[in-house]
Parts: sequence; structure tokens; C-alpha cells
Amino acid sequence: MIYENSLAFAQEADKNDPLREWRNEFHFPQIKGKDAYYFTGNSLGLQPKQARTFVEAEMKKWETYGVEGHFVPKERPWLKFHEASKAALAKIVGAKPLEVVCMNNLSVNLHLLMVSFFRPTKKRFKVICEAGAFPSDQYMFESQLKFHGLNPAEALIEVAPRTGEQTLRTEDIISTIEQNADELALVLFGGLQYYTGQLFDMPAITKAGHKAGAFVGFDLAHAAGNVPLHLHEWDVDFATWCSYKYLNSGPGNVSGIFVHERFAYDKDLPRFAGWWGHNEQERFLMEKGFDPMPGADGWQLSNVNVISTAAHLASLQLFEQVGMEALREKSLKLTGFLEYIIDELSGEDKLFEIITPRNPQERGAQLSIYFHRNGKLMFDYLVEEGVIGDWREPNVIRIAPAPMYNSFEDVYHFGRLLKEAIKKYADA
Ligand SMILES: *Cc1c(COP(=O)(O)O)cnc(C)c1O
Repeated sequence: MIYENSLAFAQEADKNDPLREWRNEFHFPQIKGKDAYYFTGNSLGLQPKQARTFVEAEMKKWETYGVEGHFVPKERPWLKFHEASKAALAKIVGAKPLEVVCMNNLSVNLHLLMVSFFRPTKKRFKVICEAGAFPSDQYMFESQLKFHGLNPAEALIEVAPRTGEQTLRTEDIISTIEQNADELALVLFGGLQYYTGQLFDMPAITKAGHKAGAFVGFDLAHAAGNVPLHLHEWDVDFATWCSYKYLNSGPGNVSGIFVHERFAYDKDLPRFAGWWGHNEQERFLMEKGFDPMPGADGWQLSNVNVISTAAHLASLQLFEQVGMEALREKSLKLTGFLEYIIDELSGEDKLFEIITPRNPQERGAQLSIYFHRNGKLMFDYLVEEGVIGDWREPNVIRIAPAPMYNSFEDVYHFGRLLKEAIKKYADA
């Protein structure tokens, strides 16, 4: 696509966008009487208009059936509710339905999956992750290592960018894995780095980790619903993600997990168990002796939080209809347009620069912009003018045009307002 920073170009691009109508399926926050320029789908995706209908359907079941809602309704009885998301989730992360389920929240699931996949021995006890991982992941690592009596300073290896660089080189990740191969128990990486927007080479990391004799997992909080994933084919051992970022399912809503098919029938794999992970046929016999369900289902603990999961289903049906390939195709163009505009505006004196990788194959929707001066002043102006973006201390703005509902015109207006902000505040 040959870009041009003009309203006419943006409107023409929207006219030719096969996904342009999906925007109408979402509620946009209103600022000064019009739709906000919303670029924080990487933090909290917008509400699908259908979400309320889906939630109300479950309220109605509760009203009508009480406890019988578990069995009586023809559509999605609560007993089977965890199955309703499988087909869509499997497509989003590139898995078999057996390999995925939604349950709990992301940080909880990271801990639960660590129980199964981080079993340090005297010889193999090290974990490799990316430096500057999301805080919850850092606390998870620290507490898990201490729980096993390990010293995080020795057992946790964080791969950092080289001096003067912002993002990681795959060769550095691989060589860190190779150097620690004899002592390595687990590689657990972000799929897409929340701060820099870097998309990691998951197949290469998985291959290297397995070659070293370690398990390999990914936190896909910023990757699920953003970039195409092929977890089964890549041979990833496990993964987890949240549903409220690119998956538009509402604040704090349910997380998803992936456990590779090779563990589906492995009843000896240690895990923390609960009744919803127990053999369905016998669940209500309420007997002793945990017998895990095959696949990811065997990691469930509790019965499904039906009311909030209903909102997740409303969003997933949109993903089923649009498809990740079409979303990615639009996303590459949309984020490319944003990149073009930012580069044009940053000008000769490099007021700001993009720290996200320049190669579109190494990023998703988000661009992180590092301001060399007066970033907060300019950001505050953008907010006043109807842009919802994300400010990260000390001086980074993260902007994520979500292909499901953002338009080229949204991106154009972001650029127009940034230009005004520069005029007013660059030299303030
Ligand atoms: C958003 C995010 C989280 C949030 O965890 P919750 O348990 O859902 O609150 C954790 N890890 C990463 C990498 C994230 O991006």
C-alpha cells in the first residue's frame, strides 16, 4: 500500500476495506459528542454491541430456571458452558478444540500452568523469560521460584536488548537458551511484548527450548486476537492469555489456556485439581479420586463464571465471522499507515521515534512511540481532543489501531491531532 497523509487517502482506504462494517458492531466512548479515537484495544478492547444481549440471555436463564439452568436450556446449558468458546478460541490461537479452554484469569492461569510445567530438579531449575516482562509475570516468576526454594537471582534468566537497542534479537534469545541448556527447566516468554510491541519468533524459541530439553510456554496477553498464532503446529507446550485486550470481552474477563495435545491424556502430569476438571461422567458422583478430563479441560478448577463468560462469547462470534487472517491483513495496512504518519511528523529533529520493530512481521497492531521531549504535554493535548491512547512512564505512548473496529480515518485524525500537539508543545 502506498500511503499518503491526507483525509482523502484515509477515506478511500476505508471505502476499500472489506472489514469496514465491523466497526458498527462496537460501542465507542463518546468525547465531545462524537466517537473517541480509540487506540487502547491492547489494554481494554471496546464493547461489542451483542455483549449485553449475550449477558442478558444468561440472566434470563437464571430468572427462568434457577439451578436448572445447568441442565434444561437447549442453548448452552451452564453444565456445558465451557465448551461454547472452544471452536473460536482454537481458531484464534491455532489449536485443536481439545487443547483450549477458558477459565480463571491470566495471572492465576500462569501459576496453575507453572505447577504442571515448572518442576525444577537439582540439575534443571532455570527459567528463561524476557527482561522487563509485564509486572504480574515478574511477580509470578519471583514467587514461583521462591516457592520451590530457589533464588530468583540465580534461577531466573532475563534476556535483555543489547546496549543501545530497544528490542530483542532472536539470535540472543536462542543463544541464551543454548548457554543454559544443561540447567534449563522452562522457557516462558511473552508472545508479544506489552511495552515495545515486539512479536517474538515463537516457533524458533519453542524449537530451541525443546532442543535444550526444557518446556516452552507463552503469555499471549498481547498476541491473542492480534496476530495469527499456530500453537499446535509450533509445538508449544502451553500458553495462556486474557480476553479483555484484543479479544474485546470486558474488564477482567476470563482467560484462556492452551495445553498441547501430547499432554491431553497424561493423567500423571502434576496439576492442582478441582471438580470442573474431573471426568464429566462422574463429576456429580462426588467421589474421591481425581480423574482429569482429557485436554485443557482437565486444568479447570471451578464451575464457569457464566455471566461474564457470556460477554466473551459475544466477542468470539465476531472473530469466528471475520477470521484472524483477514484481521491480520487489515492490521498490517492500518499499522503501516500509522507508522508512515508518525515518521512523517517526527521530522528532521527526531522529536520522537518508534521503538517497535520496523519489520511488520515482528509486530502486531501496536506501535510504541518514544518521546525525546515534552511527551506528556503532547499526550495530554491528544487526550483533550478525543484520543484515547496509553501513556507509559517515563515517555512512551502506545497506540494500537485494532483492525476489528479502527478505521484509516481514525489513524489520520490521530496524526492530525499529533501535528497540532507538536505545533503547540514541542518547544514549550
Ligand atoms: C495484561 C497482562 C496481564 C494481566 O494479568 P491479569 O491476571 O489478567 O490481571 C498479565 N500479563 C501480561 C503480559 C499482560 O499483558
